[in-house]
Amino acid sequence: MGTPLIMADCCRGTPPNRFVYLFRPDPKPGKVRDEPIAAPQDETSVTAADAVVCRQCLHVVTSIAEHQTVNGAHAHTFANPEGIVFDIACYRDAWGCVYVGPSSPQFTWFAGCVWRIAVCANCHVHLGWRFSAVEGHFFHGLIINRLIVREA
Ligand SMILES: [Zn+2]
Repeated sequence: MGTPLIMADCCRGTPPNRFVYLFRPDPKPGKVRDEPIAAPQDETSVTAADAVVCRQCLHVVTSIAEHQTVNGAHAHTFANPEGIVFDIACYRDAWGCVYVGPSSPQFTWFAGCVWRIAVCANCHVHLGWRFSAVEGHFFHGLIINRLIVREA
């Protein structure tokens, strides 16, 4: 006969029990942490292309994903009017460069393209040239021995 009263006491105790349940989800974020550890697997390593960095200061200049073939080749050897020989490689974009001086069509190595001097945005060493055609097409010719490919 006294047992129903005990059960009634249990029912009164349910509101605090709900608070206990509200706290229970907390351990779940801990479990969620396990998932990001497993998640960054292959995709990030595949999408991170090898960086091409300035040899002098290691500033990231471009990436090998920007490799461009121009006039049938990625790499070219040219001499400037002073007779200085440059081995250059062609890249579409080179976000680690800044440009100095005006565009010039003089002694251009690529017919139909004007060039601007491209320097490292960080240490300002001369890295090559940005070539652009009238149509808006552009690419960079970067001096190979002033760059390092840093594997991702
Ligand atoms: Zn630099």
